[in-house]
Amino acid sequence: MKEDYYDILGISKGASAAEIKKAYRKMALKYHPDKNPDNKEAEEKFKKAAEAYEVLSDADKKSRYDQFGHQAFEGSGGFGGGGMNMDDIFSQFGDIFGGGFGGGFGGFGGGGRRVVKGSNLRIRVKLSLEDIANGVEKKIKVKRKVQADGVTYKTCNTCNGQGQVTRVTNTILGRMQTASACPTCGGAGQNINKKPSEADAQGLVAKEETVSVKIPAGVVDGMQLKVTGKGNAAPGDGIAGDLLVAIQEEDHETLKREGDNLHYDLYVSLPDAVLGSSMEIDTVSGKVRIKIEPGVQSGKILRLRGKGIPSINGYGKGDLLVHVNVWTPKTLNKKQKEFFESMREDEHFQPKPESSDKSFFEKVKDMFS
Ligand SMILES: [Zn+2]
Repeated sequence: MKEDYYDILGISKGASAAEIKKAYRKMALKYHPDKNPDNKEAEEKFKKAAEAYEVLSDADKKSRYDQFGHQAFEGSGGFGGGGMNMDDIFSQFGDIFGGGFGGGFGGFGGGGRRVVKGSNLRIRVKLSLEDIANGVEKKIKVKRKVQADGVTYKTCNTCNGQGQVTRVTNTILGRMQTASACPTCGGAGQNINKKPSEADAQGLVAKEETVSVKIPAGVVDGMQLKVTGKGNAAPGDGIAGDLLVAIQEEDHETLKREGDNLHYDLYVSLPDAVLGSSMEIDTVSGKVRIKIEPGVQSGKILRLRGKGIPSINGYGKGDLLVHVNVWTPKTLNKKQKEFFESMREDEHFQPKPESSDKSFFEKVKDMFS
């Protein structure tokens, strides 16, 4: 079981953005590797806190986490496996501690070098209700940029691989030293040395690749899964962006989804309703035969427990609610007409609602209580 992000940072679920930032700052200072050399436990805590902050500081990720927990980020990859790497963590610091790298810490290993990350790719994947109910592994073709065969990179001469240039200017306050991103390499510390003609200015070429995406059961329309490192590659020794997979749920012919529950409209003929019958209905795992009791009322809801969609959080499954609709014939032949005429005053045909024949609204109320 993965630790809760709020617990990791020692804050409550209602914490404000400022509180989240403050809590993370405290943790990062306490467990920073420079302060805890060769301390694996501190490093683990440092990484966990960074991962928690990465999610909770991003409004979109936070709302998904609040709704779905850790499952929200589980595609193949996600954070599930190795968590964030140190470069990701340090690149996050500019935002937290302000003033770029170095402020407050006396510098990180990499100095001013920016970790170059490739851009993210976004795709949409259409899923049937059956796929959503059972979980599915999709092979998706993506066109992503990769480093061209034969491309080589060399250390940038302008900044000597530092990624930034410093300039000293004389002001009325005295000499001021300012650092800015290297104009030649854009902060990466590397430039192209040699590249084949088909590669772009960064030495990248587009390549079609098949990516396997594991989609957990219970995903919701609009949800986004992340496949780490399957976006566009970065030049030099940068890291690849991510592939973001947006879930699109296809309409089902007969089943309607409502959260984890499914609804099915069943039409029963008048004779079947009067005499009882058995009928086949659709479920997400194939057809199922259900029994119709003699005298079933229109509007009755039959609940098939556990025949709905599994919860994305892994807590059980929804139900399949079968709504009974008794079909009244619109035309009759002479003989049938005479029969129903003769039944008008018949005692058996008089409505006698019992307490078990609740109105539709009472049933809906029961269902949610
Ligand atoms: Zn440079």
